[in-house]
Amino acid sequence: MAFGEGKIWVDGKLVDWADATCHVMSHALHYGSSIFEGIRCYDTGAGTVIFRLGDHMRRLYESAKIYRMDIPFEQAALEQAVIDTVRENGLSSCYIRPLAFRGLGEMGVNPQKCPVNVVIAAWSWGKYLGEAAMEDGVSVRVSSWRRPAPDTFPTLAKAGGNYLNSQLIKMEATNDGFDEGIALDYQGFVSEGSGENIFLVRNGAIYTPPTSSSILPGITRHCVVTLAREMGIPMRQQVIPREALYVADEVFFSGTAAEITPVSKIDNIVIGEGRRGPVTERIQSAFFDIVEGRTPDTHDWFTPVA
Ligand code: PMP
Repeated sequence: MAFGEGKIWVDGKLVDWADATCHVMSHALHYGSSIFEGIRCYDTGAGTVIFRLGDHMRRLYESAKIYRMDIPFEQAALEQAVIDTVRENGLSSCYIRPLAFRGLGEMGVNPQKCPVNVVIAAWSWGKYLGEAAMEDGVSVRVSSWRRPAPDTFPTLAKAGGNYLNSQLIKMEATNDGFDEGIALDYQGFVSEGSGENIFLVRNGAIYTPPTSSSILPGITRHCVVTLAREMGIPMRQQVIPREALYVADEVFFSGTAAEITPVSKIDNIVIGEGRRGPVTERIQSAFFDIVEGRTPDTHDWFTPVA
């Protein structure tokens, strides 16, 4: 199923793509009051699996809690609904988008009288930053837009409204001829990409900004931290100044959509050899060996669809 085809799960029922509509006066359209997840499903060769389903759904419920949004389904029921949506659409490898939003109720900023609607869509989606990028890397710029300060928008929540900031970062980058943008945090330290966490490699060690740098704590980021530790690669979460990116040996992104994507240039400065470096390749291989079924899932990251 491509984007635009098949069935979408809407408030408990699978309906045709064309019928999965909402009212124009829905609260979320006016005030950005939605929360969501992005999950990948992989064909391991020995069956289709949803990657880290429980962790994604836990983050969805945490995003809801932060915004005082009561999701009218138990987490276990929504996890089953994700599995049903993938199965019903006959998908093997795909991207899954669960979304909860404040629907049609009262107009006005206070959302608490609006119903919470929940949808789950799934479709085939290839490499987010392009197939060639997995080896060649992407060219990025540091954005003139920053990530929100901690007392403005909570970045631990994956909320629709946060993606207005991401859209500014992404549009600025792509309109200027770059593949992606990197935002700094409110203090001017490195935060993350518009839809990815960021890592740098120096002298064999990996560094990534801590949650206090206004990041979304990515589930793929957690995979990178876990795999690096298992491979004996030193891994530090610490505040990173912008110029440390320029002089790094390697830089790479992580994310559900972006998976593990190397960065070749930042602000037109070549990073390391200007292509995927050896540490990035080790992390990338360890990740793809798991999701493509070449090494066993020892972390319990898979939920089988069948
Ligand atoms: N940061 C932002 C802003 C994102 O949108 C994403 C994608 N969800 C990530 C980081 C990476 O998170 P994950 O690995 O859980 O997809």
